[in-house]
Amino acid sequence: MAGTQSATEKVAARLAGARSPWVALTGAGMSTESGLPDFRSGSDRKVVVSTVPYSQFCSDPDARWAFWQQKSALHDAYVSAIPHRGHSLLARWEQEQRLLGVITQNIDGLHQKAGSSVLELHGNMHQVCCLECEFQDAASEWVEQFRQTNTVPDCPHCGAPLKHATISFGQNLSPSVLQKAWCWSKQASGMIVIGTSLTVSPAAELPRVAKQAGAELIIINREPTPLDDLADIVIQAEAGATLARIQDALARAQP
Ligand code: NAD
Repeated sequence: MAGTQSATEKVAARLAGARSPWVALTGAGMSTESGLPDFRSGSDRKVVVSTVPYSQFCSDPDARWAFWQQKSALHDAYVSAIPHRGHSLLARWEQEQRLLGVITQNIDGLHQKAGSSVLELHGNMHQVCCLECEFQDAASEWVEQFRQTNTVPDCPHCGAPLKHATISFGQNLSPSVLQKAWCWSKQASGMIVIGTSLTVSPAAELPRVAKQAGAELIIINREPTPLDDLADIVIQAEAGATLARIQDALARAQP
């Protein structure tokens, strides 16, 4: 692996000379610098995602209550989190037509807050939706209702249970989001992967899709990932600082 400084300069040179836009693929490590813990860093798994499988949510009222309890406990941290410089740089690169947008596994909405076009593979923590009808709404008032009543809220239209618009274990991803993520991965001339352990499918398959379509592959992560051998450049470092160094190198190359 090349030293971090020269690696960031190499990434900048490839991004600056790209024949068409790249795409970013991010995971929970993109948000740790905004104060949201990831899932797998180090040895201990943190309970930052709901542990209630989708089938249990649908069939078991106690599981539904446990789901709402976990989500409500996390809600304030997710609402108050703000994007860091790395999020802003990805949005800037999209404005500069260096990026198509961001494919993310994150449910925190920070890329949207920073201004990126985003494909959310695992949904969004800030919305709730009905399991039976089309009803969707901002999560905050329903979290407040749950806290006050200690009861899982029902859809105001059809009475079915409401659920945060995140993808639970065993729940299907949105086919349209997944299809677009596949398209972006095939279309992009480079993929920059940031802050993910690349252990959750289908997100972990997208770098292979991009590579097979001829894209350059850059991986920025604190720890090794299972796809490091596939990458053209691997940078084991912090997401925000690394993206800032790439931006500095871009600015030096194109004043
Ligand atoms: P993960 O926890 O499996 O892996 C995160 C990776 O990021 C780790 O390898 C870690 O070393 C690295 N990392 C942590 N901080 C970093 C930093 N500042 N700079 C560079 N690398 C850093 O996360 P995943 O691969 O996204 O899978 C976890 C699942 O949990 C996802 O499906 C996601 O939906 C969910 N999740 C989301 C959030 C969020 O929305 N912020 C937070 C936790 C978990």
